[in-house]
Amino acid sequence: MENILFLAHSETDGALAKAALEALTAAKSLGGALTAGVVGSVALPVAERTLAVCGPEFSAPRYASDAAAAELLIRTSGASLVIAACTSRWVRVLPGVAHRLGGRADTHVTQIKPADGKIAIRRWFYRQRMEAELERSQRPWIILVEPGCYEPFAGSLNGAMEPLTPPAVEARTRVEGVQAPRADEQTIRPDAKLLFVAGAGWTKKQRDGKEHIEEAEKLILGFLNAAQASLGSSKSLVDLSGEGQKVLRFLTHLNQVGQTGATPRHPKGLATCCHGEEPHVVGWRFIRERRAVNLDPNCGWARGKADVVYVADAFEVMAKVNELLKAESSQRA
Ligand SMILES: Cc1cc2nc3c(=O)[nH]c(=O)nc-3n(C[C@H](O)[C@H](O)[C@H](O)COP(=O)(O)OP(=O)(O)OC[C@H]3O[C@@H](n4cnc5c(N)ncnc54)[C@H](O)[C@@H]3O)c2cc1C
Repeated sequence: MENILFLAHSETDGALAKAALEALTAAKSLGGALTAGVVGSVALPVAERTLAVCGPEFSAPRYASDAAAAELLIRTSGASLVIAACTSRWVRVLPGVAHRLGGRADTHVTQIKPADGKIAIRRWFYRQRMEAELERSQRPWIILVEPGCYEPFAGSLNGAMEPLTPPAVEARTRVEGVQAPRADEQTIRPDAKLLFVAGAGWTKKQRDGKEHIEEAEKLILGFLNAAQASLGSSKSLVDLSGEGQKVLRFLTHLNQVGQTGATPRHPKGLATCCHGEEPHVVGWRFIRERRAVNLDPNCGWARGKADVVYVADAFEVMAKVNELLKAESSQRA
């Protein structure tokens, strides 16, 4: 029998984020007793027994404090199996913790399942092109569950809290505060209903023989704000900045979708001025409803990669769409 620890970092109010609740569902799916371990400024009960390392110095992500807290929680629980969400915070820290404990860690795990009395995991390799199922004999085995693979746990969370004396942390980094753009300035919105992809065509010379970069920026940002869509891009467009060409200022490599970029999970996608080449479209594998606007009737999207292709000028189409969205919102107001 495995001794299971569900490990989470809490939000500032002690609650668990969606990714943590999904990992909790994965942990509970294995059955048997479950201990929870929580790191953060405050912690609330999660399981029958919840160990907690709390305090202001455990609020913000920082390798030294997160690793020390996770190590203490795993040692105290005596867990052989540790299940956590594959968040950017944990993925930086937990492989190092596994090394300290003589165990192993696996990241980007999509499924955990009992197999003939043992535990097996499934995970992807090579950007979701290959799927492997594996088991490990080393313990503790730390399993980081990829967000979006399990339903968030919706049951009630209660039990006894067991606060631990926080470990002494020698940290070179002091967190003084967090500077982040306002939420409505973010262009990457994982929870949006629509992924809007901008391709290199937005920066190319148009019918009048001229580039219209400022107009492109206005149209794209206007649409993103009105529809609260998430912004993706092709590699060609994000690479242009490196080649000293005029670019859309709000795009970075983080927006890139595709084989060497991201694989977003929005339910719908709209590609504009993007050719729809295979290395880009592989990043769309989780997007079920796909539409594209392209001047070229032979573009990749028209070859079975989109459900609907509008053979049209994206500048005209998006200007009209923005106009309709504006009219709709003023009708609602
Ligand atoms: C190993 C490898 C990995 C790669 N990884 C990625 C990746 O992760 N992501 C990625 O995106 N690419 C990737 N690529 C590059 C990919 O193959 C394509 O080169 C790239 O996606 C092309 O970008 P694009 O469609 O925006 O640009 P283009 O190919 O230049 O297409 C521009 C499109 O805009 C259209 N257009 C122009 N003006 C208008 C207008 N007014 N209205 C409507 N349409 C218009 C044109 O018809 C054209 O189809 C990779 C390539 C390799 C070799």
